[in-house]
Amino acid sequence: MPPGDTIIYLSDTAGVPPEVSHIIDSITSVYETGPYSSMPSMNRPQYIYPEWVLFLFILAGLFILFVIYVGLPHLRKQRVLKYPVLDELGADAVRYRYWLGQHNPYYAALSETMKERFLDRVVKFMRSKEFRYHKLEVDEKVPVLLSGAAIQLTFGLRNYMLDYFPVIHIIRQEYTLDIDKETYYGHVSKNGIYISWTHFMEGFSDYSDSVNVGLHEMAHAVSYDIFLGEKDRHDRGFIERLKGFREEGTPVFRALRRGATHLLDDYAATNFDEFWAVSIETFFENPAGFRDTMPGLYQCICDILNQDPTRPDKIIDKRLAGLTD
Ligand SMILES: [Zn+2]
Repeated sequence: MPPGDTIIYLSDTAGVPPEVSHIIDSITSVYETGPYSSMPSMNRPQYIYPEWVLFLFILAGLFILFVIYVGLPHLRKQRVLKYPVLDELGADAVRYRYWLGQHNPYYAALSETMKERFLDRVVKFMRSKEFRYHKLEVDEKVPVLLSGAAIQLTFGLRNYMLDYFPVIHIIRQEYTLDIDKETYYGHVSKNGIYISWTHFMEGFSDYSDSVNVGLHEMAHAVSYDIFLGEKDRHDRGFIERLKGFREEGTPVFRALRRGATHLLDDYAATNFDEFWAVSIETFFENPAGFRDTMPGLYQCICDILNQDPTRPDKIIDKRLAGLTD
């Protein structure tokens, strides 16, 4: 403050000349009666709500804009693009979900999103096949659960239709074939996939004993389809990966032939095709045991099928599984 200036306190006008006091009074009256009379500070505007409430309003507004412009179109796109088949099914879809949930532990453990993807594939698969019943009443549950076994095996693959096999035969129980008079619970030949319904259901009812005729026969069916069916234009590396299994599995197979006790059922020693099919049964029913005992062979099957049963959503490479369309 320059020397000679005088400080004037607005609250204390004692000793101030009358003309100056008059000016101070008029300024004070403007503050007390004017638009800023109730404000704690000249610089703060007044709102009808507290500032934190206004902040919440702005946040809520931004959230609504996000839902309208980002969330809803995304959800709509997923629904329209991914599962139109399920939308058509109506009440059937409810029954199919129930049966799969009751009898297929692999499906039951999937997330809701992946369950819908699984069911979408099941419906497309079963619609593409003819199911022939032998000594067994027609049962709507049969094609759903048989297709479920196939879809489980091919869940990580883009090509899952097993086009080489237009017909699947379902027999009430075990059966014998004229060629060798042996008893069969299932088999696969160029004429089709054959499965005993009794043993199919037993296989899934105990999902920890590494015995599952449904998965076993579907494993044969996949290798038939790959080697004898039309070339898979979506996954040209599949045959190479399957050959990799032969390299990795040969020492294990030879050890089995010598009678070495092992994680895999003895039936795997019959020939290399059975070794593949039995390995698939153990891969799904005892994945942690398989991975810990034979990590190389386990990884090989993970690579072939593009899935790891120890993961919650199974799939390893989404692009290879056709999940990124
Ligand atoms: Zn077999």
